[in-house]
Amino acid sequence: MDPEDLRLAVYRSFAASGRAPATADLALELAVSEPEVVAGLWQLHEARHLVLAEGGTIVMAHPFSAVPLGFSVMGRDTLWWGGCAWDSFALPHLLPAEGEMLIATRCPACAAPLGWSVGTAEPPPGGQVAHFLTPAARMWDDVVHTCRHQRIFCGHDCVEAWCRQAGAEPGYVMDLPTLWRFASRWYEGRLDRGYLRRDPATAAQYLRECGLTGDFWGL
Ligand SMILES: [Zn+2]
Ligand SMILES: [Zn+2]
Repeated sequence: MDPEDLRLAVYRSFAASGRAPATADLALELAVSEPEVVAGLWQLHEARHLVLAEGGTIVMAHPFSAVPLGFSVMGRDTLWWGGCAWDSFALPHLLPAEGEMLIATRCPACAAPLGWSVGTAEPPPGGQVAHFLTPAARMWDDVVHTCRHQRIFCGHDCVEAWCRQAGAEPGYVMDLPTLWRFASRWYEGRLDRGYLRRDPATAAQYLRECGLTGDFWGL
């Protein structure tokens, strides 16, 4: 089995249904045995194409998530767990046929409900800010924890209040237009065959073009 076939099958299942596929369904679709699928999934996990839980269940295939991380993203007929702020804002770009998608969350500090209609033409209006807790160099130490703490707050005051309450060092704060730009092309190509991750230099160039700066991003 070509691991790229398996990667695409996982991504296409998430894209079409909002859910991770079952191992048995993948085996059927790819006409291979379940142990082959399991071995292939771990290979993709090692290569950071997806994230498995200890037992081998698919947790994430960025920007898709099989578990709630604070966001929901509603398309025309499909509902996705949005992953983190970055992942949620990426979905309208990765799935343009959905048109504008409704992204909803709560401010982690004050629990205010927050929502935006997000499309590919321009950033949604709103004075809220995204707060990223984990610096880029450590994002993959525990990527589910990382995504869980990439959230959108009412504003700077709520970020500060949350950090105080959590006893956490403040991370990186960006406005919605920066988040929207940053999310727009990061996951480009993941639904296509032959997807290759950006090399570190190209990734750094992309981050700079999006307006991100500083040690937090390794720039
Ligand atoms: Zn708030
Ligand atoms: Zn994420």
